[in-house]
Parts: sequence; C-alpha cells; structure tokens
Amino acid sequence: MPSARGKRRTGAPTHGRTGKGGRADTRTHGRTAQKRVGPVIARLKKRFPEAGCSLQHADPLELLVATILSAQCTDARVNVVTQTLFRKYRTAGDYAAADPAVFEDEIRSTGFFRNKTKSVLGMAAALLARFGGRVPDTMEDLVTLPGVGRKTANVVLGNAFGKDEGVVVDTHVARITQLLAFTTQSDPEKIEQDLMALVPRPEWTLFPHLLIHHGRAVCMARRPKCGECPLADLCPSAAS
Ligand code: SF4
Repeated sequence: MPSARGKRRTGAPTHGRTGKGGRADTRTHGRTAQKRVGPVIARLKKRFPEAGCSLQHADPLELLVATILSAQCTDARVNVVTQTLFRKYRTAGDYAAADPAVFEDEIRSTGFFRNKTKSVLGMAAALLARFGGRVPDTMEDLVTLPGVGRKTANVVLGNAFGKDEGVVVDTHVARITQLLAFTTQSDPEKIEQDLMALVPRPEWTLFPHLLIHHGRAVCMARRPKCGECPLADLCPSAAS
C-alpha cells in the first residue's frame, strides 16, 4: 500500500482545474464538504461495487503481516509473496521462530526486506510475549507492536475485525481528498482527523478502498479523467 508521507497539497492546478481566483470553489454550488461527502460516497459505491481490501488474508495475523509487507509495494506483489508465505507460517510462533536470513529471502521481492523482516518477526515475538500469540483488536494495543503504526492498525481493525476506528490515508486517499477539498492538510494523521470529522463512521473502512479504486481507474495522479468522472460536478478541482 503506498505511503502518503511528505506529499504536498495536490489540489494545485496541475491540470487546469482550479483556474481563476477561486472559481473552482464557486463550482461547488455552495455545497459544503459535509454536504458533498454523502453523494461522493454513494457514487463511488455505485461505480466500484467491488471495492474492498485487496490484500489476501484469512485471519487478522495474515492481514497484519500482509499490511507490513505492503509498505512501498503493490498489493498484487504482496499477494504473490503471501500465497507461499502463509502456507509455511501459520501462527505468531511460526514467525517468531523463523530464521531471519531465510525470511528475508522469502519476502525479498516486496522491497525493504530487511526492515520488513525485523518488523514481522519482532511483531510476532511481541504477540507471543504480550498477547498470547493473538493479534489484539484495539488501536491502543496494536500500535505497541513493532512495525505497526496507526495506518497499519486501521487496516487490520477495519478489515479483519470489522471495527471502524479510523480512516486509512495512503497516497490515493491523501491526493483525492485534497482535490475534493475534504482537507487542506498534507500530514496523513491530520488528513485522517479531517476525514473522521467528515465521513460517517460506518464508512470509515470502505471509504479509502473506494478512493483507491477511483485513484487507479479515474482520478489518476498524472492524468485525472475528469471528463468521465462520476464526481465531476461535486469536485472543486474538476477540469473544465
Ligand atoms: S477525476 Fe474526478 S475527482 Fe479527480 S480531479 Fe477530476 S473531477 Fe475531481
């Protein structure tokens, strides 16, 4: 899953959309972000009914491992690696007992394999030492695990435990919520706070999946297809 770290506000007119003296703001038809967010979600649900977690997993531990491996890597590549990995490692004890050199080789193609090995093996050891080998289901506990930050914890809580505790902010989510004027922040945690105030809580887990699909298919970073975007009349950044 791509990171949102260090991105500037991408609502800047890279494709001629905000134009003259705030004209784009008036094109929101006076509707506030609060009023636009509901229709935005409804239209994205209609356009991407298949949206959901694309990291293959059968339980919280598998999703936690897959999410750690997904940093700076595509979900498709992670799925290739975990297809084999999850057959060999089934419990926290299996990971904690792994030979780091062997594990590094097994996950090498996901990139940053040394750091990821430290995180996964350290996380597993912490699960054994402090949580009876089970993945905890609270934000407070999850972020105490090595290699697990708020974003990873949000992925696991939302998609493995069905708990809407926060909004995952990756590069697509950061970029598109800026374009939609749902936030003016660039720091992922501040963007998340804005989105938690705006998006209805039951949608917190699905919302980023919808935006990720939208970012891949329509609102691409370099060439957003505003002409065929189902959000064009709701988007202050739509190219005219
Ligand atoms: S593709 Fe859609 S969401 Fe993206 S900038 Fe254009 S109108 Fe806005």
